Amino acid sequence: MRAFVLTGPGRSEVQDVAPPVAGPDQVVVDVERVGVCGTDVEFFTGEMQYLHDGHARFPMRLGHEWSGTVSAVGYGVDARWLGRRVTGDTMLGCRACRRCLSGNQHVCEHRFEVGIRGGFAGALAEQLAVPVTSLHELPLGVDEVLGALVEPGGSALRSVQRAALKTGDRALVLGPGTIGLLAGLFAKAQGAEVHVMGKTQRSLNFARTLGFHGVWAADELPALPFDAVIDASNAPTLPAKALELVEPAKWVVYVGLAAAPA
Ligand SMILES: [Zn+2]
Ligand SMILES: [Zn+2]
Repeated sequence: MRAFVLTGPGRSEVQDVAPPVAGPDQVVVDVERVGVCGTDVEFFTGEMQYLHDGHARFPMRLGHEWSGTVSAVGYGVDARWLGRRVTGDTMLGCRACRRCLSGNQHVCEHRFEVGIRGGFAGALAEQLAVPVTSLHELPLGVDEVLGALVEPGGSALRSVQRAALKTGDRALVLGPGTIGLLAGLFAKAQGAEVHVMGKTQRSLNFARTLGFHGVWAADELPALPFDAVIDASNAPTLPAKALELVEPAKWVVYVGLAAAPA
């Protein structure tokens, strides 16, 4: 099958690779859609920290925001999974350690991350093998594109839940990337007045199509009291700026990561 392979910093190619086989408790998924994340970009540039501390190395097969259809099941997997439309978790904990058993498998010390960590092949390929325990079946109303947005959507939703917004609260999202825009949409769905601050004209223009209350460049941002500031950017200056912008006693949520220390 064909797979997108990063062979080194700034170097990639589509290669012919062996198709995955569903091992015990695994399924093979025929991949339909894959999103490209900021993490993928950092792998492409070679900046991603995992490359420097041994959790990842080239050649790499990226892709952790995906949707597809189960086409094979391994030993021990219920055959009723066949043909189901699914997406899946990125973080695959050991399921045995203290963190995993308390529901925090995403920070398991021995975790794999699909398309990211420990050499686990990602979804930018015709097929993908993952543990059946990582699957989430897509409801009928969720198409393949939305299915591939479930993973970043999970991060965005979690950040909005942490912002403790009430109906009518005013929220500011810093950084109109995928996570920031999804966070803004979740906050809007919760009844908040949502403002988005960004940098490039292109991203601001796209944000303006999504019905937010205000979309601003940094020098245009009105001096309003913000009940929550969600930093979904990778700008080293914005974590401190978020603290300046938020109303006292309200909430700052950091969901973005700067490559340089903030
Ligand atoms: Zn990601
Ligand atoms: Zn674990």
